[in-house]
Amino acid sequence: MQSLKLKEVHSSSLYEIKIAGLPNGTYDYEFIIDDLFFEVFKSNSLTKGLVNVGMEMNKNSGLFHTSYQFSGFIELICDNCLNKGNFPIQYQHKMIYKMSLDTENLKKNIDSDIVFIHPNAEKINIHQELFDYIHLAIPMRTTCELFSKDCSIDLNNFNEVNDKETPPYWEKLKKLKSENGTS
Ligand SMILES: [Zn+2]
Repeated sequence: MQSLKLKEVHSSSLYEIKIAGLPNGTYDYEFIIDDLFFEVFKSNSLTKGLVNVGMEMNKNSGLFHTSYQFSGFIELICDNCLNKGNFPIQYQHKMIYKMSLDTENLKKNIDSDIVFIHPNAEKINIHQELFDYIHLAIPMRTTCELFSKDCSIDLNNFNEVNDKETPPYWEKLKKLKSENGTS
């Protein structure tokens, strides 16, 4: 168990941005999402992938405007036949990090495009955020069509299931956050 713990620490530290003493300006970062990235989250559905994440960050005093660009693939499992396939991801997401002493703000950090951080924070860890954004970049329902494959189960019998309304992405993220116990 000890070795797993060390691995988690190692993996998360790859997704940190040092902000202590950083002068105002625009900075470019690059992150790689690979199989190790997913281990910390112990997700049943998302375990493999290779995604390059380019991130541009503009720092202006206590405000950090960031823009993420995802490019790569994630392995998904077909909801119907459980076959696996690589789903291509091209996705952009913007997020603002804001320094705040308001402890209520620091506790919430949900339901908004703003993440509050403590003014004394030395770094921003974006591991969890990247995981959440990947969920926003993939469809609610996974079928073999997404991998340009034929499903090994005849879908004609399952039309009623397919007619279910898809909730908006943001509802999905909120649900996800509460399931993960993020606060
Ligand atoms: Zn399938």
